[in-house]
Amino acid sequence: MEIVPLEPLPEDWERALCVVAHPDDMEFGAAAAIARWTGQGKEVTYCMVTSGEAGIDALPPDECRVVREAEQVESARIVGVPHVEFLHQPDGILEYGVPLRRQITHVVRRFRPEIVITGNFRDTWGGVNLNQADHIATGRAVVDAVRDAGNRWVFNEQLVDGLEPWGGVRAVWATGSPDSRYGVDTTDTFDLGVESLEAHRAYIDGLGWEHFDPREFLEGFGRQAGQRMGVAFAAQFEVFPMGWGE
Ligand SMILES: [Zn+2]
Repeated sequence: MEIVPLEPLPEDWERALCVVAHPDDMEFGAAAAIARWTGQGKEVTYCMVTSGEAGIDALPPDECRVVREAEQVESARIVGVPHVEFLHQPDGILEYGVPLRRQITHVVRRFRPEIVITGNFRDTWGGVNLNQADHIATGRAVVDAVRDAGNRWVFNEQLVDGLEPWGGVRAVWATGSPDSRYGVDTTDTFDLGVESLEAHRAYIDGLGWEHFDPREFLEGFGRQAGQRMGVAFAAQFEVFPMGWGE
């Protein structure tokens, strides 16, 4: 099969905001890229739309939420992300719509990122594996909220106490999209990405996947993307330009 090369993502930015549906969404492929960027001195913040509280069969949501938030905070710390925001929307039954856009818009206006990263929100992961409803709702709300954030007259009630519209997001990058055409070399930070996924210990144990090895798992995808960039490991992203005239 012909290998389609991945174009290197731009790195001439200072601030990124990652908005994903669940704790662990960043760690299943993108964390090593985050470690690379924070290592370059960039500022990255995580925002979890849910706390993944419906993610462990043996743990009721109220107990699970606490465990998973703590795991996410630790997993973020490992890759140089000091702050994790939790929006506390319901895990598993997240709905795309104006209320979700409103919440994400508020976060974008507060953090004023140049790049917003989200998870794959295409219908599948490529092939027959269907994507999950929360991921699709989140990604769609993220691209809309990035535009909303720049429009003074959308969610105008947020613009108090000095909060201003923010139209400075250059692009939304969706990690793990089957339509990825861009990538970033994660060879040097690959181990940090593994460590970051391993921080989701209770979640991984709760999955009950026999012999699941975080390193092996990440190596598989990392190598595939790496091959497309001529490096050992890479992470891949679909790019949605948000500015006009780019
Ligand atoms: Zn998820």
